[in-house]
Amino acid sequence: MKDKDSQQVSAGAEPGADDRFATRLSHLGRPGTRVHGFVNPPLHRGSTVLVPSPEARREAARHKFDQYLVYGLYGNATHHALENLLADIEGGSRCQIVSSGLAANCTGLLAYLRHGDHCLVPDSVYGPVRAFCDRVLVERNGVAVSYYRPEIGAAELAPLLRPNTRVLYLESPGSHTFEVQDVPALAAAARARGIKVLMDNTWGLHFFQPFRHGVDVSIQALTKYAGGHADVLLGSLVTNSEEDWHAVRETALLHGQYASPDDCWLTLRGLRTLNVRLQHQMAAGLEAARWFAARPEVLQVLHPALPGAPGHALWQRDFSGACSLFGVVFRPEFTPARVDDMVGALRLFGIGASWGGFESLALPTYGSVTRTAAPLALGGPAVRFHIGLEDVADLIADLEQAFAALHGGPA
Ligand SMILES: *Cc1c(COP(=O)(O)O)cnc(C)c1O
Repeated sequence: MKDKDSQQVSAGAEPGADDRFATRLSHLGRPGTRVHGFVNPPLHRGSTVLVPSPEARREAARHKFDQYLVYGLYGNATHHALENLLADIEGGSRCQIVSSGLAANCTGLLAYLRHGDHCLVPDSVYGPVRAFCDRVLVERNGVAVSYYRPEIGAAELAPLLRPNTRVLYLESPGSHTFEVQDVPALAAAARARGIKVLMDNTWGLHFFQPFRHGVDVSIQALTKYAGGHADVLLGSLVTNSEEDWHAVRETALLHGQYASPDDCWLTLRGLRTLNVRLQHQMAAGLEAARWFAARPEVLQVLHPALPGAPGHALWQRDFSGACSLFGVVFRPEFTPARVDDMVGALRLFGIGASWGGFESLALPTYGSVTRTAAPLALGGPAVRFHIGLEDVADLIADLEQAFAALHGGPA
């Protein structure tokens, strides 16, 4: 009997290799369009999956359950659509989705580190990853972890490498402090010694193409701009080889990692508008950054895409754009209490952590930055700003009035 839902529709053809980024965002990850005509893929939820025969299950096992629909944990068509799109965005070949950005960080590290191994982690790493390294890798698993200054080059990396160094972890720019790393040089030095290179690319998105710069596994918190609407928690690991993909996928599954199909579906929807959101937010973020840089209360703006900012030359060399998350360091005469007053006086900026959504955020970072390789010397109290999709003129007017609180003015 013919399935009445089945019809051949030409508009759902997969894009070709020459299609540009915005085009690919619209047309990839749309299984089923050609079958039933709906532009968006169906949302599959489920634990039980029925297979046609006992042999079908054995066949799936022989293929390591790679995109076979046999068991809930192994993923379904909704996961695969998102995974295929994400692998494309980052220029890799395969992707594994997990339950949060942090789960992706941890899965990547656990995939390669065993008892007795050594791992190098930048001092500017996302705080919860540092906690995972100290409390899980070191304390419970006998892995040695050293923190290194994120700004080092290959020459300064060499003496930090040990015979048992198995992973070089990168995050560029760094969380809260926005140090840009020399990824190609560091990755090349590590790879020459057979060391795996893992990178948290949440800030870089598609603006930084990790596999062109020697990265083996690229990690993203999809919770941020990919989802883009502050309504999901999700993480991804993209690889450029089947071997690395199997390593991270096996580790994810051994730990029972599962991503909610609802969150995958929402993220797929969010990604359709990623390019226009980011183009707008990049421009608005830079406009706000320039406003901050011109204010006498501000010591420095930590925005890698701003000329003159720390890391700008490396950003210019390696990135094709920027998101709208950056830091602002106030002159030391403005005490943390005064800066707190300013943040409290903001009308349009919320005080919150998960950036990349449509709403603007301001998060004081003094007191929450840990450094063990070298002391942090920003020169004054810092606030991390995320510029959302509001009109940037309204945001700047809001900052203008809140800055009065820095001087003890009306708050
Ligand atoms: C937010 C963030 C994460 C963690 O993402 P969650 O989905 O919130 O767990 C990891 N790395 C970086 C750089 C982040 O900013």
